[in-house]
Amino acid sequence: MTPQTQFDIIIIGAGPAGLSFARSLSDTGLQIVLLERQPEHILANPPEDGRDIALTHSSEKIMRDLGMWDYIPSTEIGTIRDAKVVNGKSPYALHFASGITDRDYLGHIIPNHIIRQAAYNVVKDLPNITIMTEAEVVGVETNTTAGKVKLKDGTELGAPLVISADSRFSETRRKMGISASMTDFGRVVVVCEMEHTAPHNDTAFECFHYDQTLAILPMFGNKSSVVVTLTADKAEAVMNMPPEVFAADIQRRFDQQLGEMTLVSERFPYPLVGVFANQFVKTRFALVGDAAVGMHPVTAHGFNLGLTGATILATEIRDALESGSDIGAQWVLKNYESKHRRIARPLYLGTNALVRLYTDTTVPGRLLRRAALRIGNILPPVKQMITRQLTQV
Ligand SMILES: Cc1cc2nc3c(=O)[nH]c(=O)nc-3n(C[C@H](O)[C@H](O)[C@H](O)COP(=O)(O)OP(=O)(O)OC[C@H]3O[C@@H](n4cnc5c(N)ncnc54)[C@H](O)[C@@H]3O)c2cc1C
Repeated sequence: MTPQTQFDIIIIGAGPAGLSFARSLSDTGLQIVLLERQPEHILANPPEDGRDIALTHSSEKIMRDLGMWDYIPSTEIGTIRDAKVVNGKSPYALHFASGITDRDYLGHIIPNHIIRQAAYNVVKDLPNITIMTEAEVVGVETNTTAGKVKLKDGTELGAPLVISADSRFSETRRKMGISASMTDFGRVVVVCEMEHTAPHNDTAFECFHYDQTLAILPMFGNKSSVVVTLTADKAEAVMNMPPEVFAADIQRRFDQQLGEMTLVSERFPYPLVGVFANQFVKTRFALVGDAAVGMHPVTAHGFNLGLTGATILATEIRDALESGSDIGAQWVLKNYESKHRRIARPLYLGTNALVRLYTDTTVPGRLLRRAALRIGNILPPVKQMITRQLTQV
């Protein structure tokens, strides 16, 4: 039998965004293909990558609706009830507590490889979704009637709609001639997991020192996700530190608040580059996930935003199907673009402004930072806005 080459939707990239998007359309009867350059065994058992993903209530709901939550062991789900932002050695903290909302927690935190595995599990056996692995896309083009995608082995596939979910450095975004604004923060984030002798009390901490930022996010049990942001040369030194020296350094920077700390994972470095695509759609083509918006991780919005965008696009496609319209029509894609940009742009710009504020080492910068923390605490609307962002469904 000759393999199928014509589909209704081609999705490039089976990362968490591409997989979730495919799953959200799985009951429509549309024939969908996911093209992924990694091998099948990696999708089925993704390796740890050090990212622990803080999820909003809205993302939790989407993941439950898609069946992904059922595949996440309860021992992998951490809970964030409180969050504190501290400026350097100052004891003053900006405090976000779930108590000011009608929820009893701000969000959950789950390792990225577990989310990726859950997303693969809900898609892998669906009859109308084909997953092609070790399938590297090398060409993509669209016209007013169809899209065409070419794989490295020469195979050509066609569909009336092509979606790229192939990461913030999306090669297919570039191939489609879509430019992106990129901000290189000139820093590297080193992430890892650590166990500790004192409890974290489900509290996340973000401490802004002048030479580095340290975030500690509560995972299940006496374990935390540790996120250190620093300049590239210092990151290399931190990566090369013996594990006990690294643990002692984090323990000291965190004023022993979690007791004795032990490194229990590898350390993973990520250079920090924020990316915002200048268009999310083109003729019969749309960007989803990090390919549309690649966020700085400090505000933990990346995957949350990817899920929101995937849900918006899936809803537009469903509406088009129900009204008997063309799912790849420009108005369908434009609706997605305008709705998603309206949500994503303020978050992207706000996050970048926050990063600048907290990495500015000048005297005015330090004063502004101190003032911002106090204003955040004094003005309830600011806190409520941020807390609502996390907890609303
Ligand atoms: C340190 C760190 C911490 C983070 N913390 C949070 C957090 O707390 N909360 C949050 O919401 N987000 C967080 N994020 C962001 C989150 O990890 C990303 O938003 C999310 O993983 C992006 O998923 P994606 O599917 O869009 O892209 P990716 O995961 O990058 O997947 C893209 C896929 O496309 C495939 N691909 C690429 N090119 C091709 C090609 N040419 N052909 C075929 N396949 C291709 C790749 O192999 C890959 O599988 C964090 C990120 C980092 C770095």
